[in-house]
Amino acid sequence: MSLLHIVCQNCDGINRVQSETLKQDPRCNACKHLLFINSPLKLTAKNFKAHLSNSDIPVVVFFWNNTCMHYKNMDAAYALVTSNMEPWIRMAKINTEQEQSLAINNKISMSPTLILFRKGYEVSRKTEQMNAGDIMKWITSYI
Ligand SMILES: [Zn+2]
Repeated sequence: MSLLHIVCQNCDGINRVQSETLKQDPRCNACKHLLFINSPLKLTAKNFKAHLSNSDIPVVVFFWNNTCMHYKNMDAAYALVTSNMEPWIRMAKINTEQEQSLAINNKISMSPTLILFRKGYEVSRKTEQMNAGDIMKWITSYI
């Protein structure tokens, strides 16, 4: 049994959740929203640090922008992976055109880019088009 810090996708508050109850649709103590909604969390300069440094579960971030011709395929794959990997992984997305400072700070030069973070630190990065199976294989090799 272990206690995990999970950051709310709605209010960015930090919740303590027993690992055994992660699968039972836990809600935020503060705002009562579901901690996971089966859809990638939209990260911005405002909430990036709260989620990256306070999550006990790994955070995977999909850096994307509309000019990438592979974006639509990757986005569909990423949505599928999200519904499979949450709540064991926090799945998030960053629009690099809207969030240029995050793109620069994370040294994003290619689109699409996927980065797996643990406790705020980059553990692995992929800069190629991947299907859902490839993405899941990559994530599970690090957990
Ligand atoms: Zn909340």
